[in-house]
Amino acid sequence: MSSTDHPTTPVTPTTGPAFPGGTVLGYPRIGRRRELKRAVEAFWAGRTTAAELESAAADLRLATVRRLVELGLDATDGSVPGSFSFYDQVLDVVATLGAVPARFTGLLDESGRLDVAGYSTVARGAGDRGVSGAALEMTKWFDTNYHYLVPEIGPDTPISFVDDRFVAAFVEAKEAGVVTRPVVVGPVTFLALSKAADDAPEGFRPLDRLDDVVAAYADLLRALAAAGAPWVQLDEPALVTDSVDATFAELSAAVTTAYGALATDLAVGTDRPAVLVAAPFGGLRSDAGDGLALLAGTDVDAIAVDLVKGAVPTGAVPGLAGKTLVAGVVDGHNVWRADLAAKLDVVDALAGLGAGGLAVGTSTSLLHVPHDVEDEVFGGPGTPGTVLDPRLRDWLAFADQKVVEVATLARGLAEGRDAVAAELAASAAAVASRTAAAGVVVPAVRERAAALTDADFARGSYADRAAAQAERLDLPPLPTTTIGSFPQTPEIRRARALWTKGELSDADYTTAMRAEVARVVRLQEDLGLDVLVHGEPERNDMVQYFAEHLDGFAVTANGWVQSYGSRCVRPPILWGDVQRPAPITVEWSAYTASLTDKPVKGMLTGPVTILAWSFVRDDQPLGDTANQVGLALRDEIADLEAAGIGIVQVDEPALRELLPLRKADQPAYLDWSVRSFRLATSGVDTATQIHTHLCYSEFGEVIGAIDGLDADVTSVEAARSRMEIVPELRDAGYSRGIGPGVYDIHSPRVPSVDEVTELLRLAAKSIDPRVVWVNPDCGLKTRRYEETVPSLEHLVAAAQAVRATL
Ligand code: GLN
Ligand code: ZN
Repeated sequence: MSSTDHPTTPVTPTTGPAFPGGTVLGYPRIGRRRELKRAVEAFWAGRTTAAELESAAADLRLATVRRLVELGLDATDGSVPGSFSFYDQVLDVVATLGAVPARFTGLLDESGRLDVAGYSTVARGAGDRGVSGAALEMTKWFDTNYHYLVPEIGPDTPISFVDDRFVAAFVEAKEAGVVTRPVVVGPVTFLALSKAADDAPEGFRPLDRLDDVVAAYADLLRALAAAGAPWVQLDEPALVTDSVDATFAELSAAVTTAYGALATDLAVGTDRPAVLVAAPFGGLRSDAGDGLALLAGTDVDAIAVDLVKGAVPTGAVPGLAGKTLVAGVVDGHNVWRADLAAKLDVVDALAGLGAGGLAVGTSTSLLHVPHDVEDEVFGGPGTPGTVLDPRLRDWLAFADQKVVEVATLARGLAEGRDAVAAELAASAAAVASRTAAAGVVVPAVRERAAALTDADFARGSYADRAAAQAERLDLPPLPTTTIGSFPQTPEIRRARALWTKGELSDADYTTAMRAEVARVVRLQEDLGLDVLVHGEPERNDMVQYFAEHLDGFAVTANGWVQSYGSRCVRPPILWGDVQRPAPITVEWSAYTASLTDKPVKGMLTGPVTILAWSFVRDDQPLGDTANQVGLALRDEIADLEAAGIGIVQVDEPALRELLPLRKADQPAYLDWSVRSFRLATSGVDTATQIHTHLCYSEFGEVIGAIDGLDADVTSVEAARSRMEIVPELRDAGYSRGIGPGVYDIHSPRVPSVDEVTELLRLAAKSIDPRVVWVNPDCGLKTRRYEETVPSLEHLVAAAQAVRATL
């Protein structure tokens, strides 16, 4: 389309206020300087009062809504999302409804509300304030690295509108001059993500409480209307995934019930704000026809669809005429700057759907990207001297840049492309510069990938490998080992901080880390472990460490993203073709091997996990990028082998995490992910033993893929689930080495020799004991030596006891 053509003009919907021309579905809430993290942690530590925390949060909320207006969202019409949370947006609904599990009802005040301390207790667990009990379980939020708290709903769980946090935040912003759009997890998604309370009768499902939840939401909507909110956003991502425990027919019935009661039965403007339902993280599910039809068949006023992950719908959708369709064209889940003209083309392509109005939005909340690319400049906050290559900065859009993109697109939509010609040209130039830049396409990398054959993805028969490895390694039955990291002590952290600041030289830092390796080797020998590790003291993080040593990656100084609660991660950015300029871990492993006669296990992070915990280029299939990482790791493994290392572990804790939300997309994912691991690990000699490690105990859809990795030994989390995984893997046909974790490293508790022995006997009952390895559930980096040493002593003693009975 030429710039003189006129795009579709938004049409005012027939009911309620007009939807804004552009919006974002949510914004990071941890604060540009992680203010919220500091405020809640200070409160938890008892250093500040609840009032001080509330006041810090209010400052942050107001700074956020003002910033969004400054960036171009309208201050008067509900464009600005009200998406603050102290800890988690699902917990906010639990609090709003007073829907806490029975073990926490003692925290509710006489009106059924949680104060901020009680709210924290439900999130984090506690034994104080007259209640005791485990925190709500935490799990992954759709296909992001954000984790939400899983509500526990039973027939008697209190559910009513008791807490006005959404209303109060709206009023607070309005009084400061910004009319926001409160963002609330929708009723269907809230219940679809809940689990049945422990004391619920057999057959009870949280969705059975839909009427009660909807009645409470109706009260919330009335309160928001009374406070003057023109719009409310209800997020219903449960409608895009196959992984919730509900059929499409059940979800459809729930949507019809919920939005009948909320949209049809309440009068817009008087009883409720206009309702936007947002469906991020993929295309809407359907049995037949367009997934939009379900929501279009309700009386909600606007629907936000994800047009980055979901297909662009075509053809008229009945029921859309009275509604605004919010086109989620700006990627809320990745960091690349958009080609704005191409995004307007997508919006224009929606003209045939017959929507009453079109608006521009992000595909998801911006919770999943860092705040601002402008913070990645020399002299910016954070690490002095760290600066992103300005060329790379120009290709990126973090949350603030995405708000500007949306505002620009909205202007383009309303006023025509000429009105934003300069912005469109600038975005096209940035995208073109990225495409053409050195390093984005490296011919040598492409040629090597193109020359791969099936043989590069396969090792010899397992029987031959097992025989050669047994001969080379000469290990006892039930060999003992650890997953890689040893405790990261305050001394290690201090040395790294000084080194990062330039106050410790490279040589002094290396000397300090080598001394740590030597200490850890001596400890493992004293403990009597059979396969030793170097302990990973030199690694800040299992992905960032490799990103810092591979071409094609950049790391940020301030690119923090909330992972859960007050915890943030700083994902590297994978922008170009990946190559290994030099060996990464070989000197560490070779040094370790020089200190002991025991076998030493080299330690690498696998391609899928490196992708899962980075922002990855969006200009080629993920499988191609994974193979580039796989080739770099393959070279690393070859060098480890040449240095005499006989065992290499390639960790893939994120294998299940990247699994697509839709079943139809899963086989292709499992295929490329398994292939990238095999590409990394298949170059080795028969006598070299490949281990992998996975951080979970429920394998579900990935169980076949775990066998497909073809590792010689697979270690998994198993202590808490009491070795259940062992028969599951056996039944799935897995017959190679298996290290079910016998020490739950998530807890400071030291397991006794008897407990570990019992777990080993359980494992040995369901599988040939000769394939069983003895190891903790995961790495020890978050533990202290006080717990680690006795736990490992017990682990070794138990292995010896069970060995004696074989
Ligand atoms: N080798 C890593 C460690 O021990 C594995 C960490 C993980 O599985 N998340 O720390
Ligand atoms: Zn792990």
